[in-house]
Amino acid sequence: MKIVLAALLVMTAFGSAAFAGCARRGGGKPEIGVAIYKFDDTFMSYTRNAIEQNAQGKAVLTTVDSRNAQPVQNGQVEQFIARKMKAIAINPVDRSAAGAIIDKAKAGNVPVVFFNREPFAGDMGKWDKVYYVGAKAEDSGTMQGEIVAEYWKANPAADKNGDGVIQYIMLKGEPGHQDAELRTEFSIKAVEAAGLRVQLLAEDTALWDRPRAVEKMDAFRARFGDQIEVVFCNNDDMALGVIESLRKAGFFSGGRYLPVVGVDATAPALQALSEGSLLGTVLNDARNQGKATFDISYALATGASPADAGWTITGGKYVWVPYQKVTRENYRNFQ
Ligand code: BGC
Ligand code: CA
Repeated sequence: MKIVLAALLVMTAFGSAAFAGCARRGGGKPEIGVAIYKFDDTFMSYTRNAIEQNAQGKAVLTTVDSRNAQPVQNGQVEQFIARKMKAIAINPVDRSAAGAIIDKAKAGNVPVVFFNREPFAGDMGKWDKVYYVGAKAEDSGTMQGEIVAEYWKANPAADKNGDGVIQYIMLKGEPGHQDAELRTEFSIKAVEAAGLRVQLLAEDTALWDRPRAVEKMDAFRARFGDQIEVVFCNNDDMALGVIESLRKAGFFSGGRYLPVVGVDATAPALQALSEGSLLGTVLNDARNQGKATFDISYALATGASPADAGWTITGGKYVWVPYQKVTRENYRNFQ
């Protein structure tokens, strides 16, 4: 009896030890930590889904919401490192915080893949196990500008005051974010490169956010009224907010129209394109950015070479996923 009991105890001890080992290693699958600057961001939720889908059956992910606070994210990253995750994928709250994150990751020897918010080049160079997955922000701006230029040339009535100049509003994403700064700059450069003249009526930030964009556009309408001829928005959520504001003033029905452009090609933006409110957008390819983020993280986590992960790596560190222009002609291909 005593012997049986002892044997049982030993077996249980072994069993649970083996189980704990399994759980810790995810049944042999590497553990990867993922931190998203905030879950409540339309585009990031698409990217997060793509990362999670690609991880299925291959890795054990711990995905955390940094709630738009860098100190929260720093704590999460420290946890990932303390738990000896095999790799971490980070969407920084503040891209200037990447340097400190890299120092900690390097000390713990945990490779890092940043995505969507690009660290400064100097920080990227701090360690060879640091990668970035994103898109060339300037290209999205250029494509937006080209969409507007093409529309302007084809629709002389768009020049409401007939002065041959595009009076426009610029609604920016978060200041300092490479996508906000470069889309703002390159959209206008492309319009000018198409031989058109522009006049900025007002520029403001709505922090990528739809409700904030409604408020800002309400104020612009009150201030500029019919002077506004085009509205550029650094992303679709803000473009949809602008459209919502314009609808209140009777636009997009009975022949009243104002061209509004965004970036991302989210599902609601494609819907707006189909309804004829949104003029155009640019595909910010969350599916492939998420896949590349996972594939590179997984390669690093398993000791494989990221160069063999199926993506072109530029400068030893960067994976650039291309943007694509989305207009009424081709939006169906993106739905
Ligand atoms: C997207 C925005 C998003 C931001 C988050 C940008 O690339 O266009 O919609 O809010 O990333 O960092
Ligand atoms: Ca004009």
